[in-house]
Amino acid sequence: MDGSAYDVHPYVLGNYLDDYNSLSMLAHEMGHAMHSAYSNAKQPYPKADYAIFVAEVASTLNEALLAERMLERQRSRARQMFLLVAQLEGFRQTLFRQAMFAEFELVVYQRAERGEALTADTLNADYLEIVRRYYGHDERLVTVDTLYGVEWAAIPHFFYNFYVFQYVTGIVAATALAERIRDEGQPARERYIEHLLSAGRSDAPITLLQRAGVDLTTSTPYEVTMQAFTRAIERVEALI
Ligand SMILES: [Zn+2]
Repeated sequence: MDGSAYDVHPYVLGNYLDDYNSLSMLAHEMGHAMHSAYSNAKQPYPKADYAIFVAEVASTLNEALLAERMLERQRSRARQMFLLVAQLEGFRQTLFRQAMFAEFELVVYQRAERGEALTADTLNADYLEIVRRYYGHDERLVTVDTLYGVEWAAIPHFFYNFYVFQYVTGIVAATALAERIRDEGQPARERYIEHLLSAGRSDAPITLLQRAGVDLTTSTPYEVTMQAFTRAIERVEALI
């Protein structure tokens, strides 16, 4: 999705394979496109381009709404399982794994601040400790081979300045906003369109999210997200 042609309209280019992943991709990219379309229409050019902190909220919110709608419509147990597991994989990859990356990133910066050398060996050891802790290696839930210690080297985001935590705050904000839209309906939907989709970077990202209906300075949206995660697991267990 490219929304940078301010006076024209957003462009979406995708490979559509007529399956659920393609549909979800389309919902995701159209979230970005609507964010750009509304912000370009309502904001002057210097304030139209939104911050990374809110960028993945619109896209992830669309994915969440799509998943809910699809689940409501499916009667087949296999299809319900597929959708729920896809949702759980989304939480694993975007919530837990990116939080894990962010924790590793913090450890690396702390080493640098203490004036320590950043060698491949120390980074491998730090990364392996964190992956094993997140995946329950010591509790014997998952065996994480030593080789995984080098995974950090393949993740380009570690060479940017604190990027990955925003995937976590993004999915948390999106999950909480999707719940409000589902529970409250029209007023929540209008608040979201006016104060987030149309707001570009007209204020601090955290303030825009507060006006749109989610306050990331409190623990509530994180709790709502963990409840959504737990609900999906319980539904899978019930289907099994
Ligand atoms: Zn995206």
